[in-house]
Amino acid sequence: AETLVTEFKKPFTVSGISLFVGVSVGIAIAPRDGNESEQLMKAADVALYAAKKEGRRRARTFDPGMLIVVEQRELLRRSLRVALQRDEFFIEYQPLVEPPSTVVGFEALLRWRHPTLGTIPPAAFIPMAEADGLMREIGQWMLEEACREALAWPPHYSLAVNLSPAEFLTPGLTDRISQTLDIVGFPAERLELEITEGVLLERTINNLDTLNTLNVLGIQISLDDFGTEYSSLSYLKNFPFDTIKIDRYFIRDLMQDTKSQTIVRSVIGLAHGLDMRVTAEGVETQQQATWLHKEGCDRLQGYCISPPLSADRLDAFIGQATRSQPPTTFDEL
Ligand code: C2E
Ligand code: CA
Ligand code: CA
Ligand code: CA
Repeated sequence: AETLVTEFKKPFTVSGISLFVGVSVGIAIAPRDGNESEQLMKAADVALYAAKKEGRRRARTFDPGMLIVVEQRELLRRSLRVALQRDEFFIEYQPLVEPPSTVVGFEALLRWRHPTLGTIPPAAFIPMAEADGLMREIGQWMLEEACREALAWPPHYSLAVNLSPAEFLTPGLTDRISQTLDIVGFPAERLELEITEGVLLERTINNLDTLNTLNVLGIQISLDDFGTEYSSLSYLKNFPFDTIKIDRYFIRDLMQDTKSQTIVRSVIGLAHGLDMRVTAEGVETQQQATWLHKEGCDRLQGYCISPPLSADRLDAFIGQATRSQPPTTFDEL
């Protein structure tokens, strides 16, 4: 099974185009895991789910402990279906600053307040919502709610909203977005949509159409998590991005790893050469912020500036930011 997984990590070439097809493998062994085919298939399925959950592209053999995880997942899945009607979602906002410290906007991050399990992070439920076809509706709520809330901000702040792959690939996306902006009365120029490279792998011509239409509407497009997925430079050549967000993977060890420094420096140069802005995400220390500022990074986001803020803390943050746009110079950092 490991060989199979390894073989599938290589690209297939179809009509001159390289395609990546990942496989995960779940293994059940008779008689240990069951004697009936139905039982075995179920055990293999549970093992397969475990393999995917551990980060995909691996093989796992069934073990009964995996069943508990599956039950929890089923519970979560059932409550996710009604979370929207029950008004359990809310939004936190994380500041984006121009270095050294000018606030220019916020990224909206989805949260789910589960009645018994507490606040669940998006990484735990968005993939599930996508798989169950719920993401379109949740995403629509998210966009509308974030635009409404952002109307209360000072008018020069931008609002960044994430689009999941399933949402991005839904037909009628651009009409839906422009209708939402009209209904809420939020200016397209203040909206930034963040998409990841993954979505661009498919249906290239339609993707380009979608991005161009959004661009014509005046909406800004950011390429999120840059450097982590398939990172093909052809995306940068072919798609109209306004901003590249360098993934925090390269920021995390920035001060210890000269390779990360070289990569970040190059991405900044590349982006500027293509007339795009660069945001560094996951900036956790002042040292990283200073380094990024010096290297010409346009925007910073991370715990060092502020964690994502709930509505009440956001008000306080905006109050403080607008009262004291501090005259810090770079040397003072
Ligand atoms: P993302 O778009 O890359 O969002 C940034 C994530 O990094 C957020 O996690 C944020 O809380 C976290 N973060 C911010 N600063 C730091 C830092 O300094 N250090 C570290 N270690 N982490 C930091 P969060 O809120 O858990 O969101 C995870 C992912 O879920 C997001 O990654 C995004 O892909 C997705 N997501 C969140 N909200 C939405 C949404 O409304 N729609 C869609 N489609 N996806 C969303
Ligand atoms: Ca994002
Ligand atoms: Ca643009
Ligand atoms: Ca990101």
